[in-house]
Amino acid sequence: MRLPIIFAIDDDQQVLQAIQHDLRQQYRKKYRILATSSVREALDTLPELKKKGEEIALFLSDQRMPSMTGVEFLAQARKLFPNAKRALLTAYSDIDAAVRAINEVQLDYYIAKPWDPPEEKLYPVLDDLLDDWQSDYRPGHEGLKLIGYQFSPRSHDLKDFLAGNLFPYRWLDIESDPSAQELLDLHDIETKDLPAVVLENGTVLTQPSLSDLGEKLGLRPKASQALYDLAIIGAGPAGLAAAVYGGSEGLKTVLIDKRAPGGQAGTSSRIENYLGFPSGLSGADLTRRAITQAQRFGVEFLAPQEVMSIKSQGQYKHISMVDGSEVVARAIILSTGVAYHKLENKSLDKFTGAGVYYGAATTEAYAFKGKPVYIVGGGNSAGQGAMYLSRTASHVYICVRRPDLTETMSQYLIDQIASTPNITVMGCTEVVEALGNERMECLVLENMDSKERSTVEAAGLFIFIGTKPFTDWIEMDIIKDPKGFIATGRDLAKYADFKKVWRYSREPFALETCSAGIFAAGDVRAGAMNRVASAVGEGAMAVSFVHKYLAEN
Ligand SMILES: Cc1cc2nc3c(=O)[nH]c(=O)nc-3n(C[C@H](O)[C@H](O)[C@H](O)COP(=O)(O)OP(=O)(O)OC[C@H]3O[C@@H](n4cnc5c(N)ncnc54)[C@H](O)[C@@H]3O)c2cc1C
Repeated sequence: MRLPIIFAIDDDQQVLQAIQHDLRQQYRKKYRILATSSVREALDTLPELKKKGEEIALFLSDQRMPSMTGVEFLAQARKLFPNAKRALLTAYSDIDAAVRAINEVQLDYYIAKPWDPPEEKLYPVLDDLLDDWQSDYRPGHEGLKLIGYQFSPRSHDLKDFLAGNLFPYRWLDIESDPSAQELLDLHDIETKDLPAVVLENGTVLTQPSLSDLGEKLGLRPKASQALYDLAIIGAGPAGLAAAVYGGSEGLKTVLIDKRAPGGQAGTSSRIENYLGFPSGLSGADLTRRAITQAQRFGVEFLAPQEVMSIKSQGQYKHISMVDGSEVVARAIILSTGVAYHKLENKSLDKFTGAGVYYGAATTEAYAFKGKPVYIVGGGNSAGQGAMYLSRTASHVYICVRRPDLTETMSQYLIDQIASTPNITVMGCTEVVEALGNERMECLVLENMDSKERSTVEAAGLFIFIGTKPFTDWIEMDIIKDPKGFIATGRDLAKYADFKKVWRYSREPFALETCSAGIFAAGDVRAGAMNRVASAVGEGAMAVSFVHKYLAEN
């Protein structure tokens, strides 16, 4: 098998030799190191590599080169290898250019010269970038394969599940990929049994449920212990942070998620405002780091496993799952987050998973290569989705009811969108109908001012609007606000029912619900900030209140 490439370029021969030496020293077993001092040679070589189907994992470029700056070179390289990580080697005086390049070429990192010792200043950064690249990399013919129809909701659910749980897989669309039929023949799979998964060891699973597939892939939906100090329901940023703090502070902790770790943040293509990551990081990267960290502290992670109900009996909280199993814990953190509102429209329902997707920009982007796609929503998630889709789609149209994005989206995303030629913002526009046969093919749009309607070709519609908390399943008398978000702490006092249910002489702790020992953190909590960092902060904070609660019970 051909190894993926690390491509280094620096016009200074001495520096080039040093970087080549350090890269070989650390990465030669897993990567081929290509290095050149000439921009011309590099620009001639890249198309050749592309033609041969070679993979480039990382570009490492000097900034100051005579014929072209490193940022300009990376911009060219990005056109051919958009998924490769990009790092700039900079002198101290060029750091401003590097920071600007974070937006211009979506730079992943800049490394200040000299980088001695590489064990401290080079390898940790490159290890991170390469791990991140590996987690998205789908090697040609190895590993897990998923075969199905592109516009089938069941195939979409499996893709979403595999990606969410960070399993690398290769997607084969039976209608457009000849090797899909070859695989079916090889494994005696009939098309009526699709979607099918072929595991690395050759085991075939036809139309698997998510829990069957999860179990075959080594995920654990069942708890190993009868009693835990802390059960965390929902493994988005809030739940993951609570798990890291619970585990690291010695609480016997179980973390449960109905789908995969990461929550909404896990679906984000690039989180740019999370502290400590100046070049942004993908939701998958954040999730991979956080779940590894939690498990290192001994946290047990159950997924896919949906919690159906909770009951409080004295100091014990009983948590029942959809598969009939039960976990008992002394305290609970509810971090079940939110889901996108459905656009109430029958014609859209018909195509959900077959052209219409709720928030799934990262899983489906490649299916829309060279085709026009539409986005509904004007928030940051819609903006990120548009940027991600613009890498593959022929054109991305963002439909918003407001005249523009200024009131709903962060300026950095508005700027990125404005400088991306294949994205158009359509203000005062509503999607009124989806048309098609097996899959969505066109959309009917209405201009809200003129009421004029137009029918446009649309291969995909990605919806990122409004959010609704995952709290319908909570039957016990936990007080929620009128929209279903969980009330906590001092806010509880304003609800008339609070006095009837709260039986303690103390006030509830800041993130405690009206049921002592049950806490809420992150987007599911009334008054939450809907940010990764605030969810993480609340998850960590909730654990400190869990300690206080456990100390008095
Ligand atoms: C595409 C996108 C991009 C975003 N970009 C940014 C950004 O750049 N910066 C930023 O600060 N914020 C961003 N956000 C917002 C941010 O992701 C959320 O605020 C954050 O994820 C909230 O975390 P949470 O843990 O509270 O909930 P969530 O992330 O919603 O996680 C909740 C988890 O609970 C699980 N769950 C729900 N019900 C159950 C149940 N009954 N049983 C078991 N598990 C259950 C769900 O499967 C889910 O995994 C973005 C959101 C989206 C969707």
